[in-house]
Amino acid sequence: MSQPMLALEEVCASYGAVQALKGVSVHVHAGEIVTLIGANGAGKSTLLMTICGDPRARSGQILFDGQDITRQPTHAIMRGGIAQAPEGRRIFPRMTVMENLIMGAEIAGHDPARDLEHVFTLFPRLKERATQRGGTLSGGEQQMLAIGRALMARPRLLLLDEPSLGLAPLIAKQIFAAIRELNEREGLTVLLVEQNANQALRLAHRGYVLVTGRITLEGPGRELLSRPEIRAAYLGGH
Ligand code: ATP
Repeated sequence: MSQPMLALEEVCASYGAVQALKGVSVHVHAGEIVTLIGANGAGKSTLLMTICGDPRARSGQILFDGQDITRQPTHAIMRGGIAQAPEGRRIFPRMTVMENLIMGAEIAGHDPARDLEHVFTLFPRLKERATQRGGTLSGGEQQMLAIGRALMARPRLLLLDEPSLGLAPLIAKQIFAAIRELNEREGLTVLLVEQNANQALRLAHRGYVLVTGRITLEGPGRELLSRPEIRAAYLGGH
């Protein structure tokens, strides 16, 4: 197979004495949606943050387009084509929707005009709410804004941290549909972490299971979904 766009090789990361990642290897190829599932505290958010350089990998290697980014500063990693949409509530609450989006482009050093149109086409709701403060948006709208802000940086790899967290099922479905559209229409490569294993694995080409800092299973999304141990652990046995 061709060189992966993103490769984590035996990555370890810690917070003081807490070892959150214990030798994790994950590969994402261009054009893929890859989902990482795991319980609370498994290390999912840490894995995304480590890709962005904070916390730094203590050992192991992270390659993007074959280039070693393990020790690069976060801003250099972002400018290199990786953007992270954090959990929805981490937008700037006092800034308007428009200001939040423009900031996403400015961080990456782009003129925002073209990208605004793109984001408003994907999420018309954000256009309607353009002058509203971020903190007054609904949970689903905040999630759209978090994704929109990340897209403003024109990433080639989008990292998503629990895009369905706290959302009503219908709204979560809309968010997943938008991710699929970005992938299918624009070829955007996506790595997402989720506790909502069912929808996330349906969406994904491939998935990984993270258990207390270690990958225990990997495979095509739908294949993982059909495995009894996954159904028992992450889908309430249904
Ligand atoms: P959740 O689904 O609950 O968000 P997660 O899989 O994303 O969980 P992480 O947030 O990556 O898990 O946490 C992995 C481990 O690292 C946990 O044991 C957590 O307590 C610990 N941890 C995370 N952030 C810090 C921090 N800033 N300082 C110390 N320990 C941390």
